[in-house]
Parts: sequence; structure tokens; C-alpha cells
Amino acid sequence: MALLSIVLPAYNEEQNIANTVQVLDRLLTEQKIDYELVFISDGSRDRTFEEIRMASESNPRVKGAQFSRNFGKEAGIFAGLEMATGDAVIVMDCDLQHPPSVIPQMWQLWQNGAEVVEGIKSNRGKESLAYKMSAGLFYKIMSALIKMDMNASSDYKLLDRKVVDVLLSLPERNTFFRALTFWAGFETRTVEYEVQERQFGESKWSFFSLMRYAVANATSFSTLPLQLVTIMGIISILFSLILAAQTMVKFLSGTAVEGFTTVILLVLIIGGFIMLSLGVIGNYIARIYEEVKGRPKYIISKVTDNVTGNVVGQWKK
Ligand code: UDP
Ligand code: MG
Repeated sequence: MALLSIVLPAYNEEQNIANTVQVLDRLLTEQKIDYELVFISDGSRDRTFEEIRMASESNPRVKGAQFSRNFGKEAGIFAGLEMATGDAVIVMDCDLQHPPSVIPQMWQLWQNGAEVVEGIKSNRGKESLAYKMSAGLFYKIMSALIKMDMNASSDYKLLDRKVVDVLLSLPERNTFFRALTFWAGFETRTVEYEVQERQFGESKWSFFSLMRYAVANATSFSTLPLQLVTIMGIISILFSLILAAQTMVKFLSGTAVEGFTTVILLVLIIGGFIMLSLGVIGNYIARIYEEVKGRPKYIISKVTDNVTGNVVGQWKK
């Protein structure tokens, strides 16, 4: 019988673990789907890992690991993918905002040959205005840069073993899970779902963490900002050629003195372009630097008893 692994990244989610295990266990048992739940506690500072450990003691299908510190949701997803042994793997949030009720549909599509099943949001749930604005801006930037509707796509998806292995074989450290499955291709189906309200606790993203996420993902997935720098450079050169011609004409006709406004404007405009360009290039260099260091995506400090592996350092199956 095929095994379904469900990967659930969790950061300070002590209130959600037991409930999520119970809900998923009931659903999957009812649907007669053979499953395992892989919880990755992303350096949680509350009792999240203890909750995972307790759940795994009463239900051996539950396993999990704790990171040595907070490495971010991306790292959590990838650690979960590495730990998962299933023939198909679903990644979902452990706060049940990704409704488990669409799992049977995803599973069905997979059994009918789909290799990737994307969860598409039909709404964005109940969120605060500030969150909507920052998330809205974030998704706009991302959609424009990587040419994909980020507003509807999410991390809720099912991946066939083949796709998981492809993603795990990528050497890069700055991953962007949501876009990588598009990049990988494969036979893709979609399932619509309504974002639910968070069960317990609050959202783990702040405005700044979302912005950082946006810049990191934009630079790891698109070179458009670098091309923009070049285009802006060309535009400002053309602009200065025109001004140079005008200055020469004025000089030759002997009316050269006024023109301080032009000088000041030019200095400001070109200075602005240069600083912006340096910022963009600096971001890419930061990315290259991160990749070149070759550090692991995450460090595991603890695992549940039903897991064997390299505890300190990167996960080895
Ligand atoms: N998460 C994580 N590491 C982080 C932040 C979040 O593993 O640094 C997990 C979190 O526990 C949850 C999922 O990622 O399972 C989505 O986070 P959250 O619910 O806070 O985001 P939102 O649903 O508000 O977009
Ligand atoms: Mg959530």
C-alpha cells in the first residue's frame, strides 16, 4: 500500500500539535490512507517539540525533529522532505489553515497520475489589514518577478516521490519551495481550498520578515533586478548625452552660465541610480556569499525516538 507523508513545519505551535495530529489521524484512518506525520519544530522556544514527542509516543506514525534554532519555514519544509519516506508527500501548515479536508482529493489526483498537486487559495482567510497590506505587497513583488500568480499559490501541495527527490538533489541553500515546484515542472494538477482561520496562537510573520523573505526569494529566483540596473544605466547615459549636447550648444553660443539646476538634478538622479544599483548588486553578492559558504540549510538538535539519524548536523536518512 502506498504511504503518504505529511510534512508540517512548526514554530512555537505547542497549542496546535495535539489537535492537528488528532484531526489528521481521524481523517486519514477514515479514508484508509496509510500515512506518517513529520513535524519539524523550527527552533521553537515553547513546548512544541515535547508535544511532538508525546504525540509520537502514543502514535508511532508521528515523528519529528527539533532544529537547534529558528532556521525559517523553508528549512523546515526541506528537513521534512528529507525525513519523509512516503511515496507521496504533502506539505501543509500545522495550524490547520490549510484545510485537511482536501487531502483525499489530492491523494485521488495523485493516484490518477498527478505528480504535483498544487493547493490554490480561493480566498486569503481572515487577516488583519496591516498583514493584508504587507502580504499583498509581498505577493505583488513576487508575482511580477517570477511570473507566477503568487497570491493564489501556497506551500500547501502534494509531491510525488520523484519530485521530492529532485528538490532534495538541488544544491542551493536559498530555496523557495513554492516556486521550485513550478520550476521542476512535472504533471501538475490543482485543488482549490479556502484558507481557514488559525486554530490557536498567532501568525509567525511580521512585516519585516515578509519583506526579507520577498527580497531573498526575488534574488534567488530572478535576475530581473540586475537587468533593471543595466536598463536604468542605459537610460541615464542617453539622458546625459542629451544634456551634454544641450550644454555644448549653450557653451558654443556663449550663454553657458546658468544651469545649476541641471547639475544638481543630474547629481541627484545619477547618485540615486548608482546607490540603487549597488544595493541590488549587493543583494546578489550576499546570495552568492551564502551559497559559497556551503553551510547546511538547518541543524537538527533533537529527534523523536522512532527516528534514527545524524542528530547534530544535516539530516541523513
Ligand atoms: N513557521 C515555521 N518557521 C517560521 C515561521 C513559521 O516553521 O519561522 C511555520 C508555522 O509554525 C506554521 C507555518 O509555518 O505551521 C505557517 O506560519 P504562520 O501560520 O505563522 O503563517 P501564516 O499562516 O500567517 O501565513
Ligand atoms: Mg498560518
